Amino acid sequence: MQKTPDRREFLKTALCASAALSFSQLAIRPALSRDRAPAIAPNRLNDHLVVLSGAGANCVAVHGPEGVLLLDGGLEERSRDLVKAVLKETSSRRVHTLVNTHWHPEQTGSNERLAKAGAKIVAHENTRLWLGYPLQEPGRQGTYGPLPPKARPSETLYSEQKMTFGGEQVEYGYLLQAHTDGDIFAFLRESNVLVAGGVVSNEGWPVIDYRTGGWIGGLVDGLKTLVSLADDHTLIVPANGPTLTKAELEAQRAMYATIFDRLQKLLRKGMGPDEVIAAAPTQEFDAKWGDSTQFVTLAFKSMWGHFAPDA
Ligand SMILES: [Zn+2]
Repeated sequence: MQKTPDRREFLKTALCASAALSFSQLAIRPALSRDRAPAIAPNRLNDHLVVLSGAGANCVAVHGPEGVLLLDGGLEERSRDLVKAVLKETSSRRVHTLVNTHWHPEQTGSNERLAKAGAKIVAHENTRLWLGYPLQEPGRQGTYGPLPPKARPSETLYSEQKMTFGGEQVEYGYLLQAHTDGDIFAFLRESNVLVAGGVVSNEGWPVIDYRTGGWIGGLVDGLKTLVSLADDHTLIVPANGPTLTKAELEAQRAMYATIFDRLQKLLRKGMGPDEVIAAAPTQEFDAKWGDSTQFVTLAFKSMWGHFAPDA
């Protein structure tokens, strides 16, 4: 059985291959040039909460007397425009706290800028650890990181944590191994807004980053946790795409549970990734979500560290 390399092996390989890379070499990734990049678009959810899209991921700004709590920071090449839009939309002078829902470039691209400006950066401890190494996000060319030490999270959590910001309690929770192994969500109970992070994509198939601890079974469990927090009036903010209702999130959970079940059966038949793609395990969902080749490949490989084909 081919096995996903463990974290230590992976880090060793990544470090050896990319020891000379620095944060400034991000330019090797396909950049969203400022000319072609979409405008940063605000979507106000209530008097102190705005979702900003167009920076590579949905970023949520909560504003209060102390400044802005920004949940995810977009891509580095969109950071200047994003921060400008955040301050304008919230009539604030500074971002007080930035939260990284996981380590990917679409979430952590404002870390350096905002840390220099004095913001505190909060994330899961695993996210902080990953940001200390050069890593490759599936589907993107080149490596990302390590971020300079000052741009890495300055406060980390392992499981649940509550903080108060702008008079509202923000409840953070950990989704274990799902999209990566450092996914957190933020639930603003009074506003009834659930910021889901990378575990929820509402714009095409998600990435399952199995090399940094994500897997399809954990994605299903993460969706189940998020569904259990929501009620019929909760607005769920995904990493990408429009907000969802609880019913829409539950439909996603059911879809991924179906696909996970099919993939387990194909794994137990001894199939490899190409055979699994040919078996079309997402067939009835592709019209809505698009070509699933990358998703199925990553989802299938993500099981190798969790199941033996002949078990
Ligand atoms: Zn991600």
